[in-house]
Amino acid sequence: MNLTHPDLIRDIARTYAEAGADIVQTNTFGASPLKLAEYGLSSRTVEINNAAVTVVREAVGSDIIVSGSCGPSGKILEPYGNGKPQEIQDSFFQQMEAQIKAGVDVICIETMIDLNEAKLAIQAAKSVHSEIPVIVTMTFDKTPKGFFTIMGVDIKSAANALAEAGADIIGSNCGNGLNHMIEIAQEFMAITKLPVIIQSNAGLPEIKAGNINYNETPEYFAERIGKLISAGVSIIGGCCGTTPRHIKAIRRAVDGRRSGTSL
Ligand SMILES: [Zn+2]
Repeated sequence: MNLTHPDLIRDIARTYAEAGADIVQTNTFGASPLKLAEYGLSSRTVEINNAAVTVVREAVGSDIIVSGSCGPSGKILEPYGNGKPQEIQDSFFQQMEAQIKAGVDVICIETMIDLNEAKLAIQAAKSVHSEIPVIVTMTFDKTPKGFFTIMGVDIKSAANALAEAGADIIGSNCGNGLNHMIEIAQEFMAITKLPVIIQSNAGLPEIKAGNINYNETPEYFAERIGKLISAGVSIIGGCCGTTPRHIKAIRRAVDGRRSGTSL
């Protein structure tokens, strides 16, 4: 889409900027060579990431931060799967190098479930450019014993290990909706000194009449965003199912808090 429909991507980015976002992400979640190989496109990694960054920058200008989205490699690291650490780090490196050369302001490593993969991604980003700010967010599910990623990482382990590995901003994205994210945010804030980022899904996806639906509306977000702000979260965004209207609701809540009006 970055190569074949850049106008569409540009329009989407502009819509989010107009909704009041301070940061807009690139359409590159799956644009690492390892993921692109699943579509026979790994040889076009540089071209795709370059185009993705360029269209967002054209849409939002220089006042808005462009964040380079980097999702999981799709490989499970040895010994649980066949992913080799060097191969995964190289894959992140190629994607991030293309994004940084194209002018992203920050790298966002997201939807991570494996701490070791997240660490390889941080190393890749910092070896491309030691000064590039790196955001890392992991995806947690609530269990009777607390929040864990699918690979069994809890929030405390994530917060400590990601900080030690050199992440500049840490937190969570995706997940099961805003109420869980408020709890996750509070746990992160109790453990880490780093700025915390939360990008919640608009609830869990449900299939209705062949369409994917998310039940947390912008109004639902508006009612709860104050709790994320009160928890001390530094960056609030949206993940699956959120729309420019959700971002507008977040913008209003943040501005309301800044100007001292009640939420
Ligand atoms: Zn998501």
